[in-house]
Amino acid sequence: MSSCAKCGKDLSNLPADITVCPYCSTPIEKVRKCPHCGKDLSTLPNKIVVCPFCGNPLKKKVKGRREGIFLFLGVLLISLTMLLMVMGAFGGPIAVLLLALGVTFILLSFIGQFRRIAEKTVS
Ligand SMILES: [Zn+2]
Ligand SMILES: [Zn+2]
Repeated sequence: MSSCAKCGKDLSNLPADITVCPYCSTPIEKVRKCPHCGKDLSTLPNKIVVCPFCGNPLKKKVKGRREGIFLFLGVLLISLTMLLMVMGAFGGPIAVLLLALGVTFILLSFIGQFRRIAEKTVS
């Protein structure tokens, strides 16, 4: 950290352990460090996903969780639609649409999983 992200004031002369900007009292982002080699990454853009010093990925993959949600939503949607259809609550095009949506969710989750497996086997 060399300058405040909010007010842009120079903070380089201040002690390194300050947690709040003395000018605008905005919490200062902690120095970003590579979890693998410990090099300072705070001067690099936030977008980088791979450490330029050691080549290790910086961000934890959250893909798996998203796929789980897709799968959960799909199964929930299909089972709910089925249940409502059995109960005679509704049917016709809306039910078909909901079923298709549920299948799409499940397919999306599977596509993501396949892609992950493919990535693993390549690397
Ligand atoms: Zn500030
Ligand atoms: Zn590194």
